[in-house]
Amino acid sequence: MRITNVHHLPLAIVEAVKNDPYPHGQTGDISATSLIAPPQLVALRRQHEADLEEDAADRIWSLLGQSIHTILERAEPSAITERRLFAHCAGWRISGQADRIVPLDLEYETIHIEDYKTTSVWSVIDGVKPEWADQLHVLQWLAAENGYDVRGLSIVALLRDWSRNKAKDGGNYPQAPVITLTVRPRPLGALHDWITSRVERHQMARACLTGGIPPQPCTPEERWERPAVFAVKTPGRKTAVKLYEDRDLAQAHADDLKGGYVEHRPGEPIRCLHYCPVAAFCPQRQAELAAALDLAA
Ligand code: SF4
Repeated sequence: MRITNVHHLPLAIVEAVKNDPYPHGQTGDISATSLIAPPQLVALRRQHEADLEEDAADRIWSLLGQSIHTILERAEPSAITERRLFAHCAGWRISGQADRIVPLDLEYETIHIEDYKTTSVWSVIDGVKPEWADQLHVLQWLAAENGYDVRGLSIVALLRDWSRNKAKDGGNYPQAPVITLTVRPRPLGALHDWITSRVERHQMARACLTGGIPPQPCTPEERWERPAVFAVKTPGRKTAVKLYEDRDLAQAHADDLKGGYVEHRPGEPIRCLHYCPVAAFCPQRQAELAAALDLAA
């Protein structure tokens, strides 16, 4: 992965981004973060690692997030910070780093795991994101495999765009720039089955690419697919009156409005469009783009 500097950021920042302390090559066969990511994406990223580029500006929040670890070391000393845990599943060595392990007894047998995120208010307004819960559950499994009894899991979110003024309006806006969200630990049997199925999907994706076969496509959920909608609109109004998934319902509503009409908004795979580092190499995405070009021709 090459780091570019399109926006001419100060050299110190760019060098800090380049010198990411992530322990590449020491994370076993797969890390917790990759395990919960789409298998096709992870396999393609591995295959095209040398061809990928990322701009330093896109790594700024992640860079700031790393400073949390220095801050945590100042906290009460009984907790364990930045502990990388390892365990085996389906023949692979899995690893994951717990930001903070808080002991609940003197022997460190029962614990609570905290994961720290530097994020936006928008990201926490609806509670815990599914991928954050998944990451904590991988850590729960790793901790259990290492002999810990995990009694609690939480996300501690530091909200980089928190506004005191917006907080005064109340509602579900966080009342402080740091909030804690709890995640319930999963029963160990179900957790083990889930980890095994994820490992097997990644093994399959990696084997497909090695054998020159396209891996299983990403699911709509993995692509963060926004469904197609039918927008009810009226002349002179920029925003939709209401969005519907059903065309007939939208048309019935539009017929009740003066000059009302329906606009079809096609679905969009948000991850493929804006966030996937391997979109240029992805057979699924490239086939989709080629089909769209054919239609337009
Ligand atoms: S471009 Fe989309 S479909 Fe392809 S790997 Fe990325 S997320 Fe999956």
